[in-house]
Amino acid sequence: MHLHFGAPEDEESGCYWSEEFTKQPAYLALLLLTGSLCKKIDIHHIRKHLLGVINRSKYVDKSVLLALDQVYDETGNVQPEQTHLFVPNSYLSDLAKENRRVLLGASVHPYRNDWEDELEFCLQNKAVLCKWIPSSQLINPEHPKCLPFYKKLVDYKLPLLCHTGPEYAIPTSDETYVEYNNPKYLRTALDEGVVVIIAHCAMPFFGLLDVDYQDDFGEFLKLFEEADQNNWNLFADLSAICSPFRTRYIKIIKENLKNIPASKLLYASDYPIPLSELTYNKSTNFFSWLKFVLKVRLTKNPLDKNFLVIKGMEFDDSIFTNAAKLFANIQYPT
Ligand SMILES: [Zn+2]
Repeated sequence: MHLHFGAPEDEESGCYWSEEFTKQPAYLALLLLTGSLCKKIDIHHIRKHLLGVINRSKYVDKSVLLALDQVYDETGNVQPEQTHLFVPNSYLSDLAKENRRVLLGASVHPYRNDWEDELEFCLQNKAVLCKWIPSSQLINPEHPKCLPFYKKLVDYKLPLLCHTGPEYAIPTSDETYVEYNNPKYLRTALDEGVVVIIAHCAMPFFGLLDVDYQDDFGEFLKLFEEADQNNWNLFADLSAICSPFRTRYIKIIKENLKNIPASKLLYASDYPIPLSELTYNKSTNFFSWLKFVLKVRLTKNPLDKNFLVIKGMEFDDSIFTNAAKLFANIQYPT
C-alpha cells in the first residue's frame, strides 16, 4: 500500500508540481533517494528509478502507486494554480497495465463536476482505492458534495485511503483545510458505509513536538473504539511509521489489540518518504537488536528495508496480506 509518484511538468503525461513543492524537505529526500541531486530531474528518470525499486523488491510482490488529483473549488472548477502536485490517473493506469507489480491507487477530487466519469474510468482500469489528501487537495470530507461520491464508493466497495495527521510533503494553498486532515471528519464516510483506510494511523510526524496533531491521533483511537458498535468498515495503513518520533504511537497501537486488531492494519511504506530503523523494535536484547540494525543497513532496496523494520515490530503477519483481501471485495464494472 501507499507509494508515491511525482514528476516535474510533462506534457505527455500531464504530471506537474509547483515551485513551492520543490522547496519542501520531502522534495530533497526525493532527489537524494532517486540519485538526482545534481542532475536535471525528469519523469523518465523518476519512473525508471521507482519501477526498479518495485521490481527488485524481495519481500513485496505488489505495490499500490498513488495518483493525486488536482485542486477543484466548490463549484467544480479545476484550480491548477492552487495545486502543488498532480499525478493523473490516466498516467498511472498505463503504468500499472505495463507492470504486473504495480496496482493503481486512483485519486478523484469529489468536487469536480465530472467526478463520476473519472471514478468510472479508474474502476475500468482496476483501481484498488481512491486517495485523498484533504489539506493539499482542499477537500472537506464532510462537504455535501462528498455524499454522492461516497455512495458510489460503497456501490463498488472501492476503499477510500485518506491522509490524516500532519502533511509535510505536499503543501496547501489554503491553511484552513489543514484541519480536515483530522480523522474525525471521516465519520460521515464511515456512516455511509465506505471502506475507509486511515493513512499513517493519524500519527503525529515529529512526536510530541507536533503539538497541533496530538488530537488527530486521539480521534483515530476513538474511531477504532467505536468502529464495531457502528459497523464501520474502518482500516488503517502503516505508511511512514518507521521513524524514531513515531515509536510511542506504535506502542500504543500494539497495546490496543482489542480495538485495533491486526486484521484492520494494512502494511504500507510511503516511499519515497525516508525511513529509519531506529524505531519501535521487539528485540529482547542488545545483540539481537544490533543484528537487526545491521541487516536493515545492509539491505539496499528501500521497500525491503521498510518490510524488515515493520517485521521487527512483530505485528501479526496477516498485516502483510490484509490489503489483498480488501481489494478482492471490489466490484468492478463489467
Ligand atoms: Zn503518503
